[in-house]
Amino acid sequence: MAEKRVIVVGAGIGGLAAALTLAARGFDVTVLERADTVGGKMRSVAVGPVPVEAGPTVFTMRWVFEELFFEAGASLAAEVRLQAASLLARHAWSAGERLDLFADIDASAEAVSAFAGPREADGYRRFCARAAEVYRTLEGPFIRSDRPNPVELGKRVGLSGIGDLWRIQPFATLWSALGDHFRDPRLRQLFGRYATYCGASPFAAPATLMLVAHVEQSGIWTVEGGLSQLARAVADLAERRGARIRPSAHVARILTQGGRVAGVQLADGERLAADAVIAGGDVAALGAGLLGPDVAAAGDRVPPRERSLSAVTFCLHARARGFPLAHHTVFFSADYRAEFDTILRGRRLPPDPTVYVCAQDRDEMVRAPEGPERLLVLVNAPADGGERRFTPQEIAACETSWTRKLAACGLSLNSAAPATVTTPDGFSGLFPGTGGALYGRASHGWTATFKRPGARTRVPGLYLAGGSVHPGPGVPMAAQSGRLAAAALIEDLASTPTWRGAAMSGGTSTR
Ligand SMILES: Cc1cc2nc3c(=O)[nH]c(=O)nc-3n(C[C@H](O)[C@H](O)[C@H](O)COP(=O)(O)OP(=O)(O)OC[C@H]3O[C@@H](n4cnc5c(N)ncnc54)[C@H](O)[C@@H]3O)c2cc1C
Repeated sequence: MAEKRVIVVGAGIGGLAAALTLAARGFDVTVLERADTVGGKMRSVAVGPVPVEAGPTVFTMRWVFEELFFEAGASLAAEVRLQAASLLARHAWSAGERLDLFADIDASAEAVSAFAGPREADGYRRFCARAAEVYRTLEGPFIRSDRPNPVELGKRVGLSGIGDLWRIQPFATLWSALGDHFRDPRLRQLFGRYATYCGASPFAAPATLMLVAHVEQSGIWTVEGGLSQLARAVADLAERRGARIRPSAHVARILTQGGRVAGVQLADGERLAADAVIAGGDVAALGAGLLGPDVAAAGDRVPPRERSLSAVTFCLHARARGFPLAHHTVFFSADYRAEFDTILRGRRLPPDPTVYVCAQDRDEMVRAPEGPERLLVLVNAPADGGERRFTPQEIAACETSWTRKLAACGLSLNSAAPATVTTPDGFSGLFPGTGGALYGRASHGWTATFKRPGARTRVPGLYLAGGSVHPGPGVPMAAQSGRLAAAALIEDLASTPTWRGAAMSGGTSTR
């Protein structure tokens, strides 16, 4: 059988995982990436001369990458240097209110008890058990499997699992479910924040998202060089397995012939033939027709108000004083509901934001570096970047708000160079079709999870991967979507022995 030609559009982690899997299985794979480097959201930016990680910083669900590398004949540990964190994150509400969570549940329970009393510590233990149950119920039938509809999910968990499915409270919001475990509003806020890992509001996200708490509790690792290096490592291995990766190649159209995918056309007019295409950008781009009319129906039309959260990120090289930053530190707003109302209903940046700071040079010992250090500061924002520009005044006001929040907790930052800022309109430009939404469609309401498309589309030969696709956003989940897309493609090929090689009329394939 001749090698089948597969084109992957986009070198985000979903596209790269698919490319690696397929290249290792002997497919002829070409990855086309519009940016000048791989990784998509797993990127670093320059702050003066210093590269600072500007995307994901929390690495979890390591098993996804262990399996991905293993199946490609390599080992994650040999390709990437990971260090397990025992301190998961530091949380602060004011100068005197601080809570650390640890990988060790007993250590966290002790910290919760000292912070909010023994009853809350009991609630914390019950919450961890429930979050673990939710995760266990969904890992096999949901995360590892093709996108189910609710009935199929019921079938997959089987009769014995129906009780488990019911107990995970699919119809409750995360916020209301947290009320079963915590009386202290600060703890509800801390664990409610896990909804934002999928770009959702805890007041609208289903309680099932508490599984994120279990995922974190099961382990966080720091990646040497940052998560952009993990993407680089997947790309390197894919190339060693024979994939070609072409940066600065913007795909303007996915081409079809006789209703089946036949290749792609780049923005400069070049055409490449393919037997199959995996679209690794946001599915909203497909739905909006940004990859041509032939494949628009394969995408998702996501109205702005159904998009997940965006962010404003500030990458800094600065001296931090007055507060012992951990690798991950969260500074919470005084009123979480008002914060989400401002963002999601008011479509504005909140005057009192919750602020995430990643102190990238700090290790487990929370030692401050001698000089300036690399910091990512992130606040949530409405994903209206496709519709409007966030003005310099808005961004300056946002910076004042988070600086005030940090100062109230004792932290002052003294920058060595101007910050590199990315706004929702900046993200919208980087990731077409998204309006700046960083996690696809918002996971609001119990049906939202099932609205994400799966790997297969209605266009034969076209597959989907990435954080806007099942099983969802986040580095490991997006990588998992790439593995699922590759598996679907391989399965379809096996069941279609006469799968024809593509021939494009008038095409000028370079290969
Ligand atoms: C600031 C920030 C912080 C985050 N924090 C975390 C975290 O701590 N932990 C975590 O797990 N996740 C986090 N996430 C989410 C995580 O980064 C994403 O869910 C994941 O990286 C998305 O991967 P993806 O496969 O969807 O591809 P993307 O990263 O979305 O990349 C898609 C790629 O496709 C390319 N592309 C699009 N259209 C075309 C085209 N027409 N032609 C060619 N190329 C195209 C784009 O240029 C891009 O490179 C964060 C995201 C951001 C932005």
